[in-house]
Amino acid sequence: MNEVIANFHIHTKYSDGSKLHTQIAEEAIKAGIDALFFTDHNIHVSGLGGYFCNSNGRVLMIMGEEIHDQNAYPQKNHLIALGIGESLSNLAYKRQTLINMIQSKGGLSFISHPYDPALPAFNETDISWEDWSVKGFSGIELWNGFSELKVRVNKKIAAYFYAFFPHFLPLSPPKKTIVLWDDLLTKGSKIVAIGGSDAHAIHFSAGPFKRVVFPYRYHFCTINNHILLKYKLSGDDLKDQESILSALKEGHSFIANDQIKSSKGFRFHINNNNNQILMGESHRFENKMKLQVILPHTAECIIIKNGKEYLHISRTNDVVITIPSPGIYRVECYKRYLGRRRGWIFSNPIYIE
Ligand SMILES: [Zn+2]
Ligand SMILES: [Zn+2]
Repeated sequence: MNEVIANFHIHTKYSDGSKLHTQIAEEAIKAGIDALFFTDHNIHVSGLGGYFCNSNGRVLMIMGEEIHDQNAYPQKNHLIALGIGESLSNLAYKRQTLINMIQSKGGLSFISHPYDPALPAFNETDISWEDWSVKGFSGIELWNGFSELKVRVNKKIAAYFYAFFPHFLPLSPPKKTIVLWDDLLTKGSKIVAIGGSDAHAIHFSAGPFKRVVFPYRYHFCTINNHILLKYKLSGDDLKDQESILSALKEGHSFIANDQIKSSKGFRFHINNNNNQILMGESHRFENKMKLQVILPHTAECIIIKNGKEYLHISRTNDVVITIPSPGIYRVECYKRYLGRRRGWIFSNPIYIE
């Protein structure tokens, strides 16, 4: 498999980000990112998608849109649409219709920051997803780099600390969001998890101090999606976009906080005779199926089965076990960094029926 590193959920000057697409792409190339998903609020920016190249390399710019009902207060229920090629923000207030429309156009829909609490110290309201009556969405944003600040902080002083020392974040996806994902999975929905930056790179000042809160470059080194493709990227804009979107739709990906250590080379699959079942795939249970996890660096590794911890190994870089019964299997890995245990890798599940 060919591993592509994609950074998801990026805002530009077209909504409330602070740089233009090409400026952001230059920083992504320096950070070794292969693909960027731009998701400005309620606008689909046309004409800028495709490869951006410079003397340092190339990055594929994929245009999406983050849609929410701007007439609602508070402005909850943000949804990201990918692979559509036009704005669907006129449907923001009819969430199920919006999801159905994205699906009918062959696109993908991801629920942004499902848990995004209020931060009263900065007059920030709760913008979590609330409408769980909806069906048919492709996935959820399990880990959101920007809203983690709202999850971890309740006083201004703590927010200032992270503004000046962003590398003390992220810690892990919010527990609430993980529980919610497992709940959706165990109820029978196939839900792809992705990690998003929600990059804005906001310029902030407090007295004489000026700071860019979470620069784009910081996001590119933290929460990424590693997408596994059957073929290498060809350099053809449309073909490569299609293969990345289709692998993402199938859940052939994992989320990683690459700041801790590069997660490149992580693999999770279930072997059935000579057949390898990948993240996102389903297969009927058979005796002697072997679950394998390969880690590029030693880490704490937890196998989750049907939302519950099944196996916990405190230090390993290779796990092989025979699975006893059908279930939804996924993997979480943790490592220590800057004095704390932090979430490193979160795989998509394998569904054994
Ligand atoms: Zn949002
Ligand atoms: Zn956003």
